[in-house]
Amino acid sequence: MEELTTPLNPIPDVITCENCNTNHPPDKKFCSECSFPIQGTEDEKTSFRLTVGSRKRLLKDAEEKVKGARTMIYVAAGLFFISGLILFVANDDVESFVMNLVISLIYLILASWSNRNPFGAIVTAFAIYITIQVLAAFVDPTNIVRGIILKFIIIAAFVKGIRSAIEARSIMGELEKVRAVPDGNR
Ligand SMILES: [Zn+2]
Repeated sequence: MEELTTPLNPIPDVITCENCNTNHPPDKKFCSECSFPIQGTEDEKTSFRLTVGSRKRLLKDAEEKVKGARTMIYVAAGLFFISGLILFVANDDVESFVMNLVISLIYLILASWSNRNPFGAIVTAFAIYITIQVLAAFVDPTNIVRGIILKFIIIAAFVKGIRSAIEARSIMGELEKVRAVPDGNR
């Protein structure tokens, strides 16, 4: 491609966006691809770059928090699977094994849903967990104290995950306030 915007050419046919290298007619004020202020002052260009920078940073933070919530769902899935396996091997408890396996699978589905809705996914996972505990306590009240340490670990993991999901949501809210630019900029 021919270089069209050299300083030697005072009236260029096209103007190239400094940010994304898209060519535009010379009268264009903002890039249609990335909304960069092509004809703007240095200040305007700097402020655009800062906006893009903080947007990227916020997105990265949010992604990390979502990942944190998702990890906790995986931890719960793993713990259900392992304890089901232990019950199966130690007590020949096929029923518990199958039930734990089903819960693990549901958690894996929730973990993949957490990309789109981290808060909904982890709260659902937590609600399922609490429901199971309540049902088990109704069936046999001694179930409450059985594996109590593991239960505390799981609840702590869920609380941590829910906190991450809430933080992710508030970061996404901040992101809304930062002027939107197309994703092509990432
Ligand atoms: Zn551009």
